[in-house]
Amino acid sequence: MRKGEGLDYNGKPQVTKWYNGMMEAFSPIAPQWTREAVRSFTFTCPRCNASPREAKRAWLNRYAPVTTEDNRRKWQEFYMCECEQVWWAWSNERPPSPFSSRHKNTDESD
Ligand SMILES: [Zn+2]
Repeated sequence: MRKGEGLDYNGKPQVTKWYNGMMEAFSPIAPQWTREAVRSFTFTCPRCNASPREAKRAWLNRYAPVTTEDNRRKWQEFYMCECEQVWWAWSNERPPSPFSSRHKNTDESD
């Protein structure tokens, strides 16, 4: 049994309305709202570009992880944004730092 694999954010979940979302986040059963999720490739809301930190609900599908080519595990993370958009992305697509979210894909050099 391994402990300490908690949240990536600051370690300590804050006791806010987020708390209810966090309780749900670790439920083994997919909440109904996750069915409407659309794929995000940026780890932000596809509609309004908000980060998952702004999301009002979250659910991590950690009960069904997928092993990647380099033997890491990833799982689907579902978020319901403040704007009601539901989206998901793979856990290993999360940007390393929340402050790098301004950094968009600028690989397009000709
Ligand atoms: Zn949004």
